[in-house]
Amino acid sequence: MIKRGKSKNLPKPHQAKVHIRKDDLVVVITGKDKGKIGKVLKVFPRQKRAIVEGVNLVKKHMKPTAYSSGGIIDKPAPIHISNLMIYCSKCKRGVRVRKKFLEDGTKVRVCKKCGEIIEVKE
Ligand SMILES: [Zn+2]
Repeated sequence: MIKRGKSKNLPKPHQAKVHIRKDDLVVVITGKDKGKIGKVLKVFPRQKRAIVEGVNLVKKHMKPTAYSSGGIIDKPAPIHISNLMIYCSKCKRGVRVRKKFLEDGTKVRVCKKCGEIIEVKE
């Protein structure tokens, strides 16, 4: 028997499943950036959030330094992944994906609608 400690807030044994990965092309389905398409720059699986290029931009005030004059810059802030869908270049819209195994055993994601392979080259 595996002894388990007292655990009120036991973390889930497996990592939260996130259907979006870095470098995926996604479309924003809700919020002020609805309809925007961008590349995923970073994923935070625990928070279920992702940073998407050009999406959810927030103004950051930069103090002038010796290297820059400072001012206000736009920086993408993490957005909840439930607001994002994988973008299918064939359907020209956000789609759901399913897993598929290629003949050589490679696991890829394909568009549920048209069957287009979504997978990004690694
Ligand atoms: Zn498609």
